[in-house]
Amino acid sequence: MTSTELAASATSARRLHAVAPDEPVDGAIDRAGAIDRAGAIEAIESLLAALGRDPGSTHLAETPRRVADALIELLTPHPFAATTFANDEHYDELVVVADIPFSSLCEHHLLPFRGVAHIGYVPGDRLVGLSKLARVVELFARDLQVQERMTRQIADWIGETLEPSGVGVVLEAEHLCMSLRGVQAEGTRTVTSSLVGSVRDDDRTRREFLARAGLRGTEA
Ligand SMILES: [Zn+2]
Repeated sequence: MTSTELAASATSARRLHAVAPDEPVDGAIDRAGAIDRAGAIEAIESLLAALGRDPGSTHLAETPRRVADALIELLTPHPFAATTFANDEHYDELVVVADIPFSSLCEHHLLPFRGVAHIGYVPGDRLVGLSKLARVVELFARDLQVQERMTRQIADWIGETLEPSGVGVVLEAEHLCMSLRGVQAEGTRTVTSSLVGSVRDDDRTRREFLARAGLRGTEA
């Protein structure tokens, strides 16, 4: 599957960048590095000084601590138990959870990107509680990310944990590094997708997933 254009919606330009299963996605998550809160606070102080601001001023006295804590929170996912259960009734229709809100931090600018995730899977032997899918999104969102990688990580997690016959993940997000600076393309949403197995290969299933995700697919 290649990158593909979707028809622009009425409200905003929507580009669908399909992340193929065999496409290399740079940089694995490295959560091995422990967070050094005191070091982060000091670094924000230095950053303010380097930006020509006075970190000693009363207005900024608490800023380094607040910024450090905000970043630490955004980089720390809530732990959750990925409880799965047997698909005793052999349910084999597409399950879709649409419009799961998320926010993440772009690793290029440390600015937020936020939007919604749409997840679908065609069950195999295991099912997962639908609320867990929102947790999976958060698990990967709370990191320094690029949208393409995050899309793939969610699809991989579902593939590995549930071994379904198909998985589809679509993320739609606005990147503040695009809308506040640079090209200042306000309202532009970037749409990425990772479609695997029957959600990729079966025409009807793919169309059903994209329709329920609110997208009109024009996959090549
Ligand atoms: Zn960015």
